[in-house]
Formats: sequence, structure tokens, C-alpha cells
Amino acid sequence: MKKIIFGGTFDPVHYGHLITARAVAEAVGAGRVILVPTGINPLKPPPAASDDQRLEMLSLATGGDALFEISDVELRRDGPHYTVDTVEQLIEQQGPAVELSVVIGVDTLADLPDWHRATDLLDMATIIVACRPPHALEEVRRGISALGEPLNARQVASLSESAVATPLIDISSTQIRRRVAAGLSIRYLTPQTVQAYISENKLYAEDTTAT
Ligand code: ATP
Repeated sequence: MKKIIFGGTFDPVHYGHLITARAVAEAVGAGRVILVPTGINPLKPPPAASDDQRLEMLSLATGGDALFEISDVELRRDGPHYTVDTVEQLIEQQGPAVELSVVIGVDTLADLPDWHRATDLLDMATIIVACRPPHALEEVRRGISALGEPLNARQVASLSESAVATPLIDISSTQIRRRVAAGLSIRYLTPQTVQAYISENKLYAEDTTAT
């Protein structure tokens, strides 16, 4: 069975994540999406919601949809958290019958060559770059072809081949946190269950992570 790994801060999860994940799964014929909330990301401010709250929102957003599973592997491991370690751990956990690919949004593409053991990661699993506004597939492929060392030409070609056209959904967690802090509605940006959870738990009342 094919499964895709979709990692993120999910602070909070939103329709951009869910629609993109489903589109990639359909494009590559994967039966499952493993959502992996990330631990500490040295490149980003710490999440406003706790680990448990982010997990709970993922579960509320995807409850009852057999496409999604949620993994807390990264939250349970001591940092620093590197994708390559998470993928290694998931390959081990899922066993040889499962073929894993990893989805990354085009906004993280430029950082990929600097990731810890980037070339190992690329040899370990197919990396699928998904589109995100304002970048459609053509620009995604242009971005991939601009990647250099330590990736080799074969790895760059394979990234380009695996990139997938996904719907351009202009939603971000930052936008949701800012809207909540400003007292604006987040209806249609994230599932109703997540909206209710945010409001009941008074999350994001102050946008402390805004940059
Ligand atoms: P923030 O605004 O806090 O930076 P975010 O909305 O970018 O958050 P993350 O949880 O950091 O969400 O993203 C996890 C993954 O999902 C990343 O690979 C990111 O590129 C991708 N992603 C997030 N939002 C979208 C979207 N609207 N369309 C496509 N991919 C997305």
C-alpha cells in the first residue's frame, strides 16, 4: 500500500492542508495520508497551541475520514527534529509492505538542500512537492531545477518528476491566527469542529507568533 507523509506545524490545521493532502494522495494513488505534527522547528517561532491541542485539532478535522491517520512520532521524540529521522522511524514502523512518500509544500522547497541529511532523505523516500499560491506546477518545477548542492542531478530530476499539480488554496495558519486575534471569522478556512475547538479553548486570542 502507498501512503504519504504530510508533516506540518498544524497551528491550526486548515483546508489548505486537507485539500492539498487529498489531491496528492489521489494523484499518486496513495490510500492513506499520515499527518505528522512537527516538533520544534528552529526556522519558525514555537507554535501557539500545545502539542496536545494541535493533535486534537487534527483529530477533529479528520475524524471519520479513513484517508487520514495521525502520527505523534515527532512529538514523542526529543529534539532537534529532523524530517529524515521521522521518515526513517515511520519506514520502520509501517513495515516493508508500505511504500512511503513525503509531501512538502513549495514554500519549503528552497530550504530542502539545507535540511539535515537531505541527500539521504531523497534516497529514502520519494519527495512530492505540492503547489501553494502563488506557485503553480510550472513554477514549482522551475524552483526545483534551481536547486543545487548537495542534491545531485538525478535527485533534482526525480523531484521534478514527482511534483504534483494541486489546487491553489490561499489559506495559512498564520492568517487564521491573525483573524482570530482580530476577532474575525475563520469560517470556511478550517473545519467547523476546529473552529469550535479554537473558540472553546480561547486559542490564538493574541497572535504571539505573528512575524
Ligand atoms: P504558518 O502560517 O504557521 O507558517 P502554514 O499554513 O504554512 O503555517 P504548516 O503547518 O506550516 O502550515 O504547513 C505544513 C505543510 O503544509 C507545509 O509543507 C506547507 O507547505 C503545506 N501547506 C500549508 N498550507 C498550504 C496551502 N494552503 N496549500 C498548500 N500547501 C500548504
